[in-house]
Amino acid sequence: MMTKECKKETAKKMKRKALSFKARRKSFAPVEYGLLRQEAIKEAERCLGLRECQYCEICGLLCPDLCITRGEKTGEVLIDLDFCKGCGICASVCPKGAIEMVLEEAK
Ligand code: SF4
Ligand code: SF4
Repeated sequence: MMTKECKKETAKKMKRKALSFKARRKSFAPVEYGLLRQEAIKEAERCLGLRECQYCEICGLLCPDLCITRGEKTGEVLIDLDFCKGCGICASVCPKGAIEMVLEEAK
């Protein structure tokens, strides 16, 4: 099977306006605001082939050791390697292939 090289320019996911963590605790307002028409078109045209985390949180839901969390300030996905047993479930369920398992070097 042959694959075609993607000609699309790489573009990062657009950062959406969202309520602060403090404001979320005090109201039932939507956390993320929607996109404007032009923003939605730009987002739809974005290449989805990037191996970048899209913050879907599937890995965190399925981690048996609950060692995947989101950073409170940055919102990025964090893996606590002190508790990770290396089962690889997170890497196998990640739809973006953003998690790579590597062998730990012997100390
Ligand atoms: S499953 Fe993959 S894309 Fe989703 S939050 Fe985890 S690392 Fe990110
Ligand atoms: S490899 Fe580690 S972080 Fe990933 S699901 Fe298993 S225990 Fe959780």
